Amino acid sequence: MNIHEYQAKALFEKFGVPVPKGAPAKTPEEFINALTELPDGPTMVKSQIHAGGRGKGTFADGFKGGVKFCKTKHEAKEMAGKMLGNTLITLQTGPAGRKVQTVYFTVASDIKKEYYLAILLDRTTSRPVIVASTEGGVEIEKVAHDSPEKITKVFIDPAYGLADYQVRELIFKLGLTGNEAKNAGKLIRNLYQCFWETDASMVEVNPLITTPTGEVLALDAKVAFDDNALFRHPEIVALRDLNEEDPKEIEASKHSLSYIALDGNIACLVNGAGLAMSTMDIIKHFGGTPANFLDVGGGATKEQVVAAFKIILGDKNVQGILVNIFGGIMDCNVIAQGIVEAVKEVGLKLPLVVRLEGNNVVAGKATLAASGLQVVSADSMADAAQKIVKLVA
Ligand code: GDP
Ligand code: MG
Repeated sequence: MNIHEYQAKALFEKFGVPVPKGAPAKTPEEFINALTELPDGPTMVKSQIHAGGRGKGTFADGFKGGVKFCKTKHEAKEMAGKMLGNTLITLQTGPAGRKVQTVYFTVASDIKKEYYLAILLDRTTSRPVIVASTEGGVEIEKVAHDSPEKITKVFIDPAYGLADYQVRELIFKLGLTGNEAKNAGKLIRNLYQCFWETDASMVEVNPLITTPTGEVLALDAKVAFDDNALFRHPEIVALRDLNEEDPKEIEASKHSLSYIALDGNIACLVNGAGLAMSTMDIIKHFGGTPANFLDVGGGATKEQVVAAFKIILGDKNVQGILVNIFGGIMDCNVIAQGIVEAVKEVGLKLPLVVRLEGNNVVAGKATLAASGLQVVSADSMADAAQKIVKLVA
């Protein structure tokens, strides 16, 4: 789960990570109230969407920049009016962009230098890793590609936690001394605490800045949480913004289905994440493109299968459906009944290939045959993939 910059910064403040003072607004009426919370003077206006690269982004009406410096609060209010409700397109949003439904006003900081700082989970070492660079404010991927020596990585033993020598190493590599070093050290320790205690999978500060007066501040903030740990953090779940999520994925999560929309035209309904992955692979192998990843899980109910089918059919790009079930715990007949019920409810004009194997498969096949549905049955994964690819071609 992702949250907005203004929410991430509120979280940072709770953990003692310094951020510029700010206030969000969701309507033009709220602009005034938000701005009265800030002192007079230079103010930043920042579009709140779940994607980075806002500063270099362009709005659908051609207006440039989703993050703007304004000399006065009056100017900031005008600027916010241009952003709110407008669609912002950045390198990370894709061509469709994202509608700005919240703007964030912050005191504009004087920047001495911009740095990059992030903490994420490194899956290779199974440890949190702190990534830092003197090249902040720009795309870190570009730095990693062009000058990897400018990126420092510190791996943390989760049992021991962040050690003082590791903080000193980071500060040294960032070239900070004196007051800046002291402030940065505190910030890094507090940011690690924030990452650890909230079960975050990533906290990214780009840029982290130093100011002419020796302050060290998180000027931008991006935080993602491990979905599997959200049950421990109701206060974080409350920050979820459904406007930023694919409606199909929201619907899927209500039914405890693992669904991820993709841009192909062959929908798949599969039980088990591994089988779902290999089903997508085999569709690709035979020249097709999957429209989604959908795992109904090991013990799906008829209702879940119906919900899954409706979600699939709600995707306008879908031109064919492949159901690939290996019944271990899953009863093939439950899937078959779910398919029949869903098709009765929503109708089906698209080709449907079904491969059932395993637990109660005979009854499952009989249910499909008796339903009178136009189902193409397949005997193996390869057979199923070839059939659906041919049918949508
Ligand atoms: P992003 O483009 O989505 O990563 O949004 P950021 O919050 O990182 O803002 C983009 C850029 O705007 C930053 O890298 C800074 O260079 C600049 N910026 C953001 N906030 C301030 C500020 O308070 N003062 C100044 N001078 N520049 C800022
Ligand atoms: Mg940024």
